[in-house]
Amino acid sequence: MDERFAEFDLIDLIASKVARLEPSCGGVGRLRTGIGDDAAITVPGGATATSVDAIVEGVHFDRAWSPPDAISHKAVAAALSDLAAMAAAPGEVYVTLGVPPDTDRAWLKSLAEGFATAAERFSVVLAGGDTVTSPVLFASVTVVGHAPQDTGFVLRSGARPGQLVVVTGSLGGAAAGLWLLSNGPGAADGMDEGLAEALIGRQLRPEPQIEAGLLLGAAGAASMVDLSDGLVADLGHVGRASGVAIEIDSTLVPVQPGVPEVVASAGAETAAFVLAGGEDFELAVTVEESAFLAAREGLAAAGIDLTAIGTVASGEGVSVVGPDGPVEVPAGFEHLA
Ligand code: ADP
Ligand code: MG
Repeated sequence: MDERFAEFDLIDLIASKVARLEPSCGGVGRLRTGIGDDAAITVPGGATATSVDAIVEGVHFDRAWSPPDAISHKAVAAALSDLAAMAAAPGEVYVTLGVPPDTDRAWLKSLAEGFATAAERFSVVLAGGDTVTSPVLFASVTVVGHAPQDTGFVLRSGARPGQLVVVTGSLGGAAAGLWLLSNGPGAADGMDEGLAEALIGRQLRPEPQIEAGLLLGAAGAASMVDLSDGLVADLGHVGRASGVAIEIDSTLVPVQPGVPEVVASAGAETAAFVLAGGEDFELAVTVEESAFLAAREGLAAAGIDLTAIGTVASGEGVSVVGPDGPVEVPAGFEHLA
């Protein structure tokens, strides 16, 4: 740790919080040595999937909108969403924090503790990291997930013509929440307060679909991606990796309650929020039609909705059809408007 933070001792703070939380963390069985030595030691037993995600102040978050513990929550959630999209069981999380020397100490304490709290919430072990001074506040989160064998993971490249395109949950909420944060929670005409709160929560404290990812992997998902950039952009990744075309029916795409009111107040197109709005962190999978009903039942038993929204075809690109014909999809939603 940089000596300019010595009097605050951020690492000790994180380490003590993790030590208090660790007994309740699911992944702890693999960890032999966590925070405090020169490196973490795990005994993974099988195959691991590793993903790294960084957030930078002014690019990915704004202190004016996000409480510090929401920033750490979202950083961990976004990283774990990538593991969910592999059908990996999350195990360990590692956090590199870059902190400007003039950062308010109480704010920083809350941010740091937020990483340990988020790890606990998602049943992963905060097993290490690094803490450095930096001209701009940033966090880099590395997550390691596990499967008994490497064949247990679900890749982007498994989509084949004839499969159904399916999504978990509902879309558009995180983009609508961002609109409410920048325009004021009362800015959407006639919006119920509870709905507005849920949309803002969707933006500030997203939930990675870890259980859904594992269930979908077990149910025979052929390809999978998490929805971080927006439905059409992320399905574009699947189409390119698999060498197929993806055809979506926009009338089938599940929309989070409250989103239509925000769309109307924003004078925007629904597509901008639902098809191009990112950060919902739902999962999109392709699956053989014969496996879909069983997959939907399995997820329903866990309280997770699964909706078929289109099909995989031969060719390339993502096309969207609505009630009046082809839908023009706006370019990716700006995460920090
Ligand atoms: P070294 O100088 O050997 O690299 P550090 O002083 O950077 O060690 O870190 C000491 C211990 O604290 C290590 O186990 C490291 O993983 C952990 N650590 C440092 N920063 C963080 C952080 N932001 N979150 C979690 N653990 C951290
Ligand atoms: Mg170090």
